[in-house]
Amino acid sequence: MDIKKAEDVFTTGIYSKKPVAIVKGKGSYMYDEKGKKYLDCTAAYGTANMGHSNPEVAKAICAQSKKIIACNEIWHNDMRAKLMGKLVKLAPKKLNKVFLCNSGTEAVEAALKFARVATKRTGLVAAEMGFHGRTMGALSATWKKEYREYFEPLVPGVEHIPFNDAIALDEKITDKTAALIIEIVQGEGGVRVASKEFLETAQRVCNETGALLIVDEIQTGFGRTGKMFALEHFGIEPDILCLAKSMGNGFPVGATLIKEGIAKELPKASHGSTFGGNPLACAASLAAINFLEKKKLVKAAEKKGKMLMAGLEKLAKEKKVIKEVRGLGLMVGIELYGKAEPYIEKLMKEGLFVLQAGPEVIRLLPPLTIGEAELKTVLKKLEKVL
Ligand code: PLP
Repeated sequence: MDIKKAEDVFTTGIYSKKPVAIVKGKGSYMYDEKGKKYLDCTAAYGTANMGHSNPEVAKAICAQSKKIIACNEIWHNDMRAKLMGKLVKLAPKKLNKVFLCNSGTEAVEAALKFARVATKRTGLVAAEMGFHGRTMGALSATWKKEYREYFEPLVPGVEHIPFNDAIALDEKITDKTAALIIEIVQGEGGVRVASKEFLETAQRVCNETGALLIVDEIQTGFGRTGKMFALEHFGIEPDILCLAKSMGNGFPVGATLIKEGIAKELPKASHGSTFGGNPLACAASLAAINFLEKKKLVKAAEKKGKMLMAGLEKLAKEKKVIKEVRGLGLMVGIELYGKAEPYIEKLMKEGLFVLQAGPEVIRLLPPLTIGEAELKTVLKKLEKVL
């Protein structure tokens, strides 16, 4: 079977696809149908922090699938109980209630709805260049025109402020604001790290006005930035935390963590999800998080991130095309003078997958399990192509 042709017959065409058919993944590598291997610095959009086809996650999925797969939240379940306990233990203090779902956008959707219910306010503030998902609520908080314009009118009451503009936070967040939603490091928006001043102002203004602080760690969570959650770099204490992506190491699962006071305001049956909290997803997530902890991958991400960044900074001095390198841990952006896409295509031909983050930024999100020798290969391939 010609996989590409067979898929192209049925696909909506809504995705721009690379001319590669991936049939296997292992650790830091993805393999096409002919067995060609690619070093993966995308971690499948940051969903495979613990490495592709992680054997411990695979084993947990297999074992749980023989016990029970479908069990909605109207019943209690052992795996769900364990996962909720684990998430609360890892999360910042006071975030002790968990809503489970199946994706990042759903985690955000729940966060926005819970904020409106709990505050009895409707206003929402988000940051320019931010990305929070593509369902109507999350899309309303997402910045990019190309994602929004076809679907307007979106949810009313959402305003955007420039990212890292602390003064704008003070102006826009009022006693009519239900919540501010922000990423600690904007991923899709170009790998931009929030400033300390911006985050501290966000915390203060939310406290003063009673607006809730929603932190979207869908991409930055689970060790990506060298801390379990990126907010730990800044000592931020959100009211709501959104998680997904590497939470299941590729298995679809997401979570919205909230404070008990917010949970108390949620009327019964006001929100829900058929698949949310299913035992299979919970087992996958537990195995993924246990692996992350057992292999000390959070600390490893910090160390490897420093190594990658040092190599890139050296490269930036030699290569005129590089404007800036920036990031946190193993979440790294290389901003170019000019379009990133042609370089991304060339890197793919060299056997290296990388992501784009805006027209001129190459984004690197390798699995946190990537070896130091593999990181050197990444740098060599970048050196060759750039
Ligand atoms: N929030 C952030 C910060 C993201 O990076 C993403 C996905 O890239 C989302 C939300 C949406 O997640 P999903 O694609 O799982 O709906």
